[in-house]
Amino acid sequence: MAGSGAGDARISVLYSAEALSARVHELAREIVARMGPRPLIVPILKGSFVFAADLMRALHDAGAAPDMDFLSLSSYGAGRTSRGEVTILRDTEVPIEGRDVLIIDDILESGRTLAFARDLMAARHARTILTCVLLDKPGKLATQLKADFVGFECPDVFVVGYGMDAAHAFRQLPFVGFVEE
Ligand code: 5GP
Ligand code: MG
Repeated sequence: MAGSGAGDARISVLYSAEALSARVHELAREIVARMGPRPLIVPILKGSFVFAADLMRALHDAGAAPDMDFLSLSSYGAGRTSRGEVTILRDTEVPIEGRDVLIIDDILESGRTLAFARDLMAARHARTILTCVLLDKPGKLATQLKADFVGFECPDVFVVGYGMDAAHAFRQLPFVGFVEE
């Protein structure tokens, strides 16, 4: 249990701020080794914004100078169960054609969100498209999609913090945790 500052909710820490920082820096080195110094980073909002911000600075530390643009997609609404359809809430603005795109998401669960984003970038003729998720929940894959870069294999719990929410709460937590029922 950790102080969440969010009323009476009890949050158990799954990945501490220190563990997240160490893994994000490792990921950045893996990404630069494979993609070179000028990838176009496309975080899927909102859940990945803290991860993407830390990863962006770790990419700088790893010697890269990435570009960034945002895609805001919705599959969950305000609840905890996926509706199974993905819609664009906010589209990218920079030209995608010919770019080496790295799509960033917080969690890979069914894979529908990442598959949708990947197909969108492919339709716009990205040169290469790789995917990076902070957390992989391997149990629920409804698509064949595997992420190219994974922070952690995540147990099958509903996680919050480090940008991720439960009904709009808990995004501010500096760690990843789960709400104790
Ligand atoms: P997928 O499209 O792969 O089924 O779902 C991935 C998306 O569902 C993630 O980007 C995230 O927004 C949401 N999601 C899946 N599991 C969780 C979870 O445990 N906690 C939170 N906050 N969001 C989740
Ligand atoms: Mg999401």
